[in-house]
Amino acid sequence: MHIVHTIKEVRAQIKLWRNEGLSVGYIPTMGFLHEGHASLIKKASEENDRVVVSIFVNPIQFGPNEDFEKYPRDLKRDSYICSSNGAHLIFAPEPSEMYVQNNSTFVDVENITEGLCGAKRPGHFKGVCTVVSKFFNIISPDRAYFGEKDAQQLAVIRKMVIDLNFNIEIVGCPIVREPDGLALSSRNTYLSAEERKAALILNKSLKLAKASLEAGEKNPSEIKRTIIDELSKEPLAKIDYVEVVDSLSLKPIDSINNKILVAIAVYIGKTRLIDNFSF
Ligand code: AMP
Repeated sequence: MHIVHTIKEVRAQIKLWRNEGLSVGYIPTMGFLHEGHASLIKKASEENDRVVVSIFVNPIQFGPNEDFEKYPRDLKRDSYICSSNGAHLIFAPEPSEMYVQNNSTFVDVENITEGLCGAKRPGHFKGVCTVVSKFFNIISPDRAYFGEKDAQQLAVIRKMVIDLNFNIEIVGCPIVREPDGLALSSRNTYLSAEERKAALILNKSLKLAKASLEAGEKNPSEIKRTIIDELSKEPLAKIDYVEVVDSLSLKPIDSINNKILVAIAVYIGKTRLIDNFSF
């Protein structure tokens, strides 16, 4: 497995593979990889001849008071996880490689980015879509792999690929959890031992909501109420949002008739965690 830092090097490698007629799978990440990322890399290596992982903490998708500076970084550890799960190339550029100083072009997907994390993190999806478009143009993979953990991101990328005619298949991959139910996230590393225990409340509240849906509940307000009541029991938890939305439009709904997404964002101490399920 190779690690490269420049666009020129990635393009040269991709060209060699293309000349051999090999297919390419791609996984965009911000690094500090865990089993969730590993599941995407594994799936890509099953479905493609060659697998590229980008590791890039993208400055333009972080708000001014967010954790860009302190986001965990460990390229050595990441490269081990990539190679042991079947990746062939890591692309780990510096911000200066990705953005020229007077960069003036951004990709902004409308509507579907208005609610959920889009409402709470202004400019976040514009940053995500811009950088993912750039990686798509640099790597031009056959398939790209995204986790359902970031359900809105996956929906936004699917929409962007349709709207901008990217010839790339978007593959969604299920959420990987710790044995006790906490969704894996690079940000879990911020949690103290006490916060780590408290963070279980996210999955616990979603499980209650799911049980209620399985028992026939059709009122989204009741589902939200169940989640909010449960989250409120945890003193270290502060709700950012609890939403029940249509799984395609991501718009709030009055009654549950089609496939829905139940999505939450909760601060545990200073750490913002997200989780969701579809039903
Ligand atoms: P990140 O490095 O957090 O930007 O994540 C890179 C990719 O890994 C995104 O498509 C995420 O949705 C995915 N991912 C992160 N955590 C998980 C998880 N626990 N299960 C599945 N996919 C995940």
